[in-house]
Amino acid sequence: MSVKYTILIIEDEKPVRKFLSAGLHTEECKIVEAADGKEGILFATQYMPDVILVDLGLPDVDGLDLIKRIREWCKAAIIVISARWKENEKVAALDAGADDYLTKPFGMQELSARIRVALRHRSRAKEGEPETLLFENDFLKVDQVSRMVFLNGEVVHLTPIEYKLLTIMIKYSGKVVTHRQLLNEVWGGEKGDDFKQYVRVYMAHLRRKLEPDPACPKILITEAGVGYRFVTD
Ligand code: CA
Repeated sequence: MSVKYTILIIEDEKPVRKFLSAGLHTEECKIVEAADGKEGILFATQYMPDVILVDLGLPDVDGLDLIKRIREWCKAAIIVISARWKENEKVAALDAGADDYLTKPFGMQELSARIRVALRHRSRAKEGEPETLLFENDFLKVDQVSRMVFLNGEVVHLTPIEYKLLTIMIKYSGKVVTHRQLLNEVWGGEKGDDFKQYVRVYMAHLRRKLEPDPACPKILITEAGVGYRFVTD
């Protein structure tokens, strides 16, 4: 079997790096290990990885700066792995260009699932699959050509903003989306923090219309203090 994708691990703690490397290795996957930020940037250039796992606590560079620098030219999915997480740090990492984050300690199964999501998004982007893709699961169906939404076979009427919000969440399904990203993509332009309330209000509307129990969301999940995640399974 040939190598289908490459994962770059940027982590200064050798035992963690070895643990991740061993846990993620398959015949389809090439793993590259970098022990600091400088090596991380070098290997990102050299190996053109599909996924980059970044520990924010690196000895030589600030993790956020590293993400920004890599993001400038690299399309790899960036997943942050870090021990100490404050909500504002998560948001800053995501806004700097990271695609997802995991707080240590985390299970290898969860990491693998996040990587699969990241790879799926990447292969879609590579194939140029249109973002007008129809979404369908057991109970929810979104036809983005007719812009109709069905819940258990019944038409759900969404306002244009609600519809836009839903399609953005679907576009990033499985990935965390920050309040800032939603503001920029749904409302456009540079909106101040006052506008974050909009996201909460419209998300509540959407849940009332789409969630079987809006108080216990199953598909539009809150990532506390960070944003939301559209979950499909
Ligand atoms: Ca570290």
